[in-house]
Amino acid sequence: MELSVSQSLSGLREDISGGKYNLINVVEHYLKKVKDNQHLNAFLEVYENEALERAKSLEQKETRGKLYGLVIGLKDNICFKGHKVSASSKILESFESLYNSTVVERLLAEDAIIIGRLNCDEFAMGASNENSAYGNVLNPIDNTKVPGGSSGGSATAVAAGLCMATLGSDTGGSIRQPASFCGVVGIKPTYGRVSRYGLLAYASSYDQIGTFTHNIEDAALILEVIAGKDEYDSTASALNVEPYSNQLQPKSQYKIAYIKDVLESDGLDSEIKDYTLGLIDGLKNEGHVVEPIDFPYLDYMVPAYYVLTTAEASSNLARYDGVHFGYSSPNATDLESTYKKSRTEGFGMEVKRRIMSGTFVLSEGYYDAYYGKAQKVRRIIAEKSKAILKEYDAILLPTTPTTAFEIGAKADDPIAMYLADIFTVQAPHAGMPAISLPLAKSKEGMPFGTQLIMDKFKEAEMFALSNYLMQKFSDQ
Ligand code: GLN
Repeated sequence: MELSVSQSLSGLREDISGGKYNLINVVEHYLKKVKDNQHLNAFLEVYENEALERAKSLEQKETRGKLYGLVIGLKDNICFKGHKVSASSKILESFESLYNSTVVERLLAEDAIIIGRLNCDEFAMGASNENSAYGNVLNPIDNTKVPGGSSGGSATAVAAGLCMATLGSDTGGSIRQPASFCGVVGIKPTYGRVSRYGLLAYASSYDQIGTFTHNIEDAALILEVIAGKDEYDSTASALNVEPYSNQLQPKSQYKIAYIKDVLESDGLDSEIKDYTLGLIDGLKNEGHVVEPIDFPYLDYMVPAYYVLTTAEASSNLARYDGVHFGYSSPNATDLESTYKKSRTEGFGMEVKRRIMSGTFVLSEGYYDAYYGKAQKVRRIIAEKSKAILKEYDAILLPTTPTTAFEIGAKADDPIAMYLADIFTVQAPHAGMPAISLPLAKSKEGMPFGTQLIMDKFKEAEMFALSNYLMQKFSDQ
């Protein structure tokens, strides 16, 4: 008979204390689930023996860390010493991490068990997980659909119960969008809340590591562990990390804004729109203040994002040259052909497209017209978002304009794929934290997320409000 393992860490720890199962049973349970769901292609590698061995040794420990019992997977762009990390790219196919990322150090120090490495879009560039060199990931709810991206493996693994939680990275939506498509909780913390040391860079001024979980409490607890200052990342904030998981009590009245243009935007699915309007009414009925606001920048959101992130990517990815890291073309004959052939053969189509756009927008004569202008747009979006959140506790909006789309539907149309990010790029433009909550499903049974954007470093408030919404307004 299949073991019924709790979906929450506190439930699981109670079950372990009560003798219902032990830590080894938990790891065995997940390993079996991974095996039974190989068709989803969520894991690129499973650390079977290592996870079992670690469970055995943790069971012997006298004191238990905050994450004792947590079986967690890592997106394939987070370094774990002695393990492969490839960013789902051929160019890093056989590359092994030489050190632990800060997040991994902190997870291990609190007794988490790392179960494996998760598929994603190559170098975290994509919104469907179709850009992986190791094949696409399937949406666990409907296998004909994409799981979202770029952290598609991370979202699918949690939604399909292959592990309790996962880490992903979010540059312009890569945690929140797949969380929305797969029906789990996904958080992108404030820029600088979590160290990026050991995260393979895509766009350094946007990238943040965050979590996928079934509930808010687990997200809060994991963030509490991985967040905080770090001598290896000067952009990691020294601000105190609050005990988020003990601060989930909501305020009695919230003041929430929603952007009129978002709910009136063309591509927004009518079911998602109606649901969001209904949620707004529900919140008002509970005595909260929910008001429409003007924010006329929606059309600039995605273009500015792609100018700035491709520019940063073109510079970050210059290091993969066939000499320093990973794949080196066997067809090269001299230094120049080593660079050219290694990059031509090692990178996939989307990554090349972005390197070319990034190089173009940074090139002499075009810099001011594109990169400089996009930076100004970013500043305006950040300032206006800040002004809104001076007056309101949160901005509420759908995470995605649609539910998960069919595999292949946008694969040949990069612009359509980029536009799928329309609601998720505001928060990272502004460096603000945001969360996607699985509050509802479409008539067809496909989940879609409700998003909250909060002011910088308001993670504690974000978790408390999210917990309230999950308890009060979840249809699931
Ligand atoms: N879809 C967005 C992109 O391709 C987001 C990716 C991400 O957040 N890493 O850039």
